[in-house]
Amino acid sequence: MTDSSNKAPKHGQQTRIVHPDDNLTPGFEAFPVPVTRASTIVFPNLAAMRQLVWSDDSQWRYGLHGTPTTITLAQRIAAIEGGEHALLQPSGLSAISNVYFGFVKSGDHVLVPDNAYSPNREHADWLVADYGIEVTYYDPMIGAGIADLIKSNTKLIWVEAPGSVTMEVQDVPAIAAVARARGIVTAMDNTYSAGLAFKPFEHGVDISVQALSKYQSGGSDILMGATITVERELHMKLKRARMRLGIGVSSDDCSLVLRSLPSMTLRYAAHDRTALALAQWLKTRPEVAAVLHPAIDDCLGHEFYARDFKGGAGGLFSFVFDKRYSAQQVDAFVEALELFDIGWSWGGSHSLAMPYKIGAMRTAVKWPHEGVLVRFFVGLEDEADLRGDIERAMGKAFA
Ligand SMILES: *Cc1c(COP(=O)(O)O)cnc(C)c1O
Repeated sequence: MTDSSNKAPKHGQQTRIVHPDDNLTPGFEAFPVPVTRASTIVFPNLAAMRQLVWSDDSQWRYGLHGTPTTITLAQRIAAIEGGEHALLQPSGLSAISNVYFGFVKSGDHVLVPDNAYSPNREHADWLVADYGIEVTYYDPMIGAGIADLIKSNTKLIWVEAPGSVTMEVQDVPAIAAVARARGIVTAMDNTYSAGLAFKPFEHGVDISVQALSKYQSGGSDILMGATITVERELHMKLKRARMRLGIGVSSDDCSLVLRSLPSMTLRYAAHDRTALALAQWLKTRPEVAAVLHPAIDDCLGHEFYARDFKGGAGGLFSFVFDKRYSAQQVDAFVEALELFDIGWSWGGSHSLAMPYKIGAMRTAVKWPHEGVLVRFFVGLEDEADLRGDIERAMGKAFA
């Protein structure tokens, strides 16, 4: 049953996800949200058509801008993070792009953490090269020191915690407080926590970005993104940019994400349990120089993770091999893994591994480790099997 009493705070996060506070098809009572496909949406008469205003979220205008299926998913995504509004984009990267086009124009300055999701950096570099926008990459551990990098034309500050590959956890509240005092918009790529373990709006962030391709999909079969806000004015800027860019999402894709959402918290906890156990075990291994898991103190910003995250770290973490192992040997290790596949994206049931040479990816801070880094996404397999696979692959590659 769906009724507004379910939103009462007496319910926990997981109950609220299973019993969302929406009911867009009165009279048709079923748990799944119907799939409503449309390009054309018809109006009863011309007067009704002429009364449409793009800024009114409650009007149905055109399939690209939303259908009952897509809007229901957007509302549920917003609710998970404690936001009021959400917009869906066809990928996590297009959600990032939507933020840039919503808030910066030529002559503006943007601050991006040095450890940001690589395609976000590439997007920023593209805006610098072709659109007259200035970008400064900053030390992710800068905290309130971000104040020194703010210029009169700074319009947007990105944060991401933990960072995509190297997992530094930023002091998000410190950065958000500085930005807010100067009237600068902050956007957080919050994909890592799925909006479950970190609540950006409780820490002063203005916009949360999610790659719904990850845990929200959970099936390695959907590409989608979201921008979530509390303030309507920010939502409207994003909505206008999204409309101008001509991007939207399919109701069929949304229905698959809607189907996966109720199990997300449980999957996240399962990924978290196995990943943390593997990370702690890797920490004891002589082959490993550092384990970059936010719950382990090798990871920069570990204390901010302990302070700000509630509900675990999920399945994504990295570790650095001892420098005596060459890049070729680490490649051989990754290829020798049988239960960890090689591939982009994560958040599904399968474990993944990817080697990275971080040095060349950084411009603001020198990367302190000499060994090669491997990022794991830990899927839903049995922990003992994954551990056995890692041990066997090390034996094979480092013999
Ligand atoms: C995957 C990912 C994205 C982009 O998502 P896509 O849907 O693949 O475009 C953005 N940010 C982070 C942190 C990601 O892991």
